[in-house]
Amino acid sequence: MVNIESKLPTVGTTIFTVMSQLAKKHNAINLSQGFPNYDIAERLKTLAKANIDGGFNQYAPMAGDAGLREALAKKLEQSSGSKINMDTEITITAGATQAIYTAVSAFIQPGDEVILIEPAYDCYAPSVIVNGGKVIAYPLQFPDYKVDWEIFEKLITPSTKMIMINTPHNPTGSILRKSDLEQLEKIVADTNIIVLSDEVYEHLIYDNEVHESALKYPKLKERSIVTYSFGKTFHGTGWKLGYAVAPEYLMKEFRKVHQFNVFCVNHPLQKALTSFLENPEEYLNLPSFYQRKRDFLQAVLAESGFKPIHCAGTYFQLYDYSQLSDEDDMTFAKRITKDYGVATIPISPFYGSGTKGKVVRFCFAKTEDLLEQAGARLQKISAI
Ligand code: PMP
Ligand code: GLN
Repeated sequence: MVNIESKLPTVGTTIFTVMSQLAKKHNAINLSQGFPNYDIAERLKTLAKANIDGGFNQYAPMAGDAGLREALAKKLEQSSGSKINMDTEITITAGATQAIYTAVSAFIQPGDEVILIEPAYDCYAPSVIVNGGKVIAYPLQFPDYKVDWEIFEKLITPSTKMIMINTPHNPTGSILRKSDLEQLEKIVADTNIIVLSDEVYEHLIYDNEVHESALKYPKLKERSIVTYSFGKTFHGTGWKLGYAVAPEYLMKEFRKVHQFNVFCVNHPLQKALTSFLENPEEYLNLPSFYQRKRDFLQAVLAESGFKPIHCAGTYFQLYDYSQLSDEDDMTFAKRITKDYGVATIPISPFYGSGTKGKVVRFCFAKTEDLLEQAGARLQKISAI
């Protein structure tokens, strides 16, 4: 054994692994970690096999397959109205997780401050800390989880290097609207702050709301790195493919790190996604597909003691369990997995310190029969 100094002394195993393992151990219905219990489209499977058979089994280009970047530039222009250069402004990554880590590594130096909005997706803070940065947390307030930009602005100092936003937001299901992005745009104007906008749930947005991308706002776009995930959009979290979009001067630095981080990512699957993207229906139908599931879960939980917090986007919904227990969220989530056979995600791990509100997160990317079974089990919980 040698003496080591951990770069992440306070970090354990991610809550997604902890709860999925607990679900397995107790044979519980797993509504914790975010993945669907249904498969990817048959056509996507056929395309994947065809591209392996077709011989695309060597390294892809470092920035990603050219056809895929071309298809994405077209898709992004349609959704945001903003022109993206496929050669200089898009890089295909091993999921959004790698894109986020690479972006933080490329720009954060020891002592730099990064403002996160808490609850924050679990990989954000560790990426900052490993790179010597300092996390500054802006806490969203239970139960509506909106940003007060006047208070937010007070967190900015001369050391602020990056602001990380996430819309639609995991785990709260809240979204940033036009006025939010306009206020952020104003706050960062005349600063050297980079914005990392995590938009992996861009297509999972409900009740006719519209996704507001950082790419739609020219003064934000010029300083933003935007991250996406094919795993979320095409029901294939195990493919671990995603991409980052940024202006050339930022993407140049991003790629310097990316090339030594992974160099490139899965080639045949990039080819398969290129062909699959030819049919926009595959992602344009997602709001109605998931809205039905959100509403179905709410209906099966209507008679339980869980009270839904509004979910405007993502495939997660927070539920208030304060009528059922005054335990902290970790204790409660573990107990109901063990005793009632349904696993959820406590949200305290998404905070640097302390949880606000007695809520747990349910993933509704599941078939209705599974959601119904989960509902039946959860109705049996009696208050303690
Ligand atoms: N950001 C958020 C907000 C997420 O929920 C996830 C999980 N999909 C990721 C990033 C990571 O995405 P990926 O699985 O593509 O790495
Ligand atoms: N994004 C998924 C979630 O929020 C989990 C991803 C993971 O397990 N790392 O549940």
